[in-house]
Amino acid sequence: MTIRTRFAPSPTGYLHVGGARTALFSWLYARKHGGQFVLRIEDTDLERSTPESVNAILEGMTWLGLEYDEGPFYQTQRFDRYKEVVDQLMQQGHAYYCYCSREELDEMREQQRANKEKPRYDGRCRHRTEARPGVEPVIRFKNPTEGSVVVKDVIRGDVEFSNSELDDLVIARPDGTPTYNLTVVVDDMDMQLTHVIRGDDHLNNSPRQINLYRALGAEPPVFAHVPMILGDDGARLSKRHGAVSVMSYRDQGFLPEALLNYLVRLGWSHGDQEVFSLDEMTQLFDIQDVNKAASSFNNEKLLWLNQQYIKTSSPEHIAHHLCWHLGQRDIDPAAGPELTRVVETQQERAKTLVEMADNIVFFYRDVKEYDEKASRKFLNEKSLPLLENMLQRLTAVEDWQDEKLHDEVKACAEANELGMGKVAQPIRVALTGNTVSPSLGITLELMGRERTLSAIEKAIDWIKDHA
Ligand code: GLU
Repeated sequence: MTIRTRFAPSPTGYLHVGGARTALFSWLYARKHGGQFVLRIEDTDLERSTPESVNAILEGMTWLGLEYDEGPFYQTQRFDRYKEVVDQLMQQGHAYYCYCSREELDEMREQQRANKEKPRYDGRCRHRTEARPGVEPVIRFKNPTEGSVVVKDVIRGDVEFSNSELDDLVIARPDGTPTYNLTVVVDDMDMQLTHVIRGDDHLNNSPRQINLYRALGAEPPVFAHVPMILGDDGARLSKRHGAVSVMSYRDQGFLPEALLNYLVRLGWSHGDQEVFSLDEMTQLFDIQDVNKAASSFNNEKLLWLNQQYIKTSSPEHIAHHLCWHLGQRDIDPAAGPELTRVVETQQERAKTLVEMADNIVFFYRDVKEYDEKASRKFLNEKSLPLLENMLQRLTAVEDWQDEKLHDEVKACAEANELGMGKVAQPIRVALTGNTVSPSLGITLELMGRERTLSAIEKAIDWIKDHA
């Protein structure tokens, strides 16, 4: 049997990290077993399923690199098929028209509450033979009345539901549109999915869906209900806790692998290993090893992982993702030193790509203004002769590279009987506008002769004007 899994989000405007974890588990499980991963967009709620919110999901999946083998399938394009299945259920006596009005249903529930019974539809239209004039009926599924349904869940074990607890669910609305439980069963069946991995908020739907499968003469898939993710206060993770959208993690400078690595560890572990490459995850992950208990989102740990990934990923890979951040700052990475070389100077320095982008702006854009404190301290009468001396020395350098440049700074410091910092800091301010840069030799090399000399000249003029 080929393993086939799916991710079936309802577009809400963004891809939630909880959804992304479900998608990751499904993707890993399919990849591990050489199976297929299907993307299905559950877009029947026409108000929320705007093209933008559908795109937000596709964008999130692409950024995470969770590529799908089939799809995206859209439920709104499958209405004919749902109707066909509803008709089949009607013809085979598994479904019936229900003409009950809202008032009648309310009254029924009130009565049940008064009798201390659990409110549920009592199936009174099952035996109705006449239509009610003027009423557009819904269609209900005839849920079995006897026995029980066992959801064989690979995470939670067997969960048993008594059929007497499950009422006859509405499968088509008065306008004929199908409801969630119907569409999901038809799709999972038609798409030949073997495993349904989804949030445990759907656990209560599973017995109803299993009954529908049986009525359709189909074998239900294997279920795995993944426990929810909590915020640091123990409540279900929501916008209230800060960022929950996958793309906002990109915006904050996370690498997709770091987020995936963080998500896979939410509810799953392998000894005390924390860092997993995608290949390792694929090899080691198994859906039955996922915890039953909910897990809490911890931003600190995610940040730590991101830092590990920044330290160890290839400069090319980091540059690929960093480009986006530079573009956001209106910086063209092609208009300066080779980005991979600049990245190498930052891998030990930045925890996020936002930090990295901020740190390297000066390589690609001339300094417009010096930081006030930095210029007061380092661009003044005392540093003027040092900068003039450095300008002279650097102008004479023929082989413009790291060590040679470093030696010149050192020689200048020695000649003036000063520590390195006294010479290096004014140059840093001249080049970057502030006091932070990678070691000076490599910074000068990457800046290039022309830009370095002109930045120092500019600083000299500035001191003359201001001092
Ligand atoms: N569309 C549903 C949701 O976003 C998921 C349905 C399912 O996985 O069965 O919650």
